[in-house]
Amino acid sequence: MAFAVAFGVWAHADATFYLRQITFSLPLLISSSALFFVPDRWSKKGALKFLHYPLPDWDVLLLGPASHRNWLTHSPLLPGLLLGAAWKWPFLANYSFFSPLLLGTSLGIGSHLFWDCVGSERHKIVVVPYWFALRESASRLWLLMGAAACLCIAGAVVGAFAGAQKLGL
Ligand SMILES: [Zn+2]
Repeated sequence: MAFAVAFGVWAHADATFYLRQITFSLPLLISSSALFFVPDRWSKKGALKFLHYPLPDWDVLLLGPASHRNWLTHSPLLPGLLLGAAWKWPFLANYSFFSPLLLGTSLGIGSHLFWDCVGSERHKIVVVPYWFALRESASRLWLLMGAAACLCIAGAVVGAFAGAQKLGL
């Protein structure tokens, strides 16, 4: 959220510029904190589970608790893939939803990684469940580098698109 405000001020001198766009706010919300306030007893079943957990923590839901903090879901992989897709298929950038989506995902995952890094007591990035996980300090470094990479992607998106003035981003 703070990143989104900072980017709004930086690019448009308007703190809520991005937050007002649902195509930005929704991916930001889903990938950073999700609806963690959904009561536990509702979040146990069906699709609500996916709303309760932020996107990088879907590793728990899809791969099981032993895979929590999977090295791929806790990395800039998704924003990187989206950026790569825009690179390969430039027509994607013509869709008005695409760049806010990319920006929201990058900032959301970036802030999630940052909070996982500074906010939690134990750090373990799981590479292969039950077999190989990064040590404490390497895991912290992994999360921090991932957060920095996400911020760079977000910066590149704003820089590239705002520079071209194509999308009014
Ligand atoms: Zn996490």
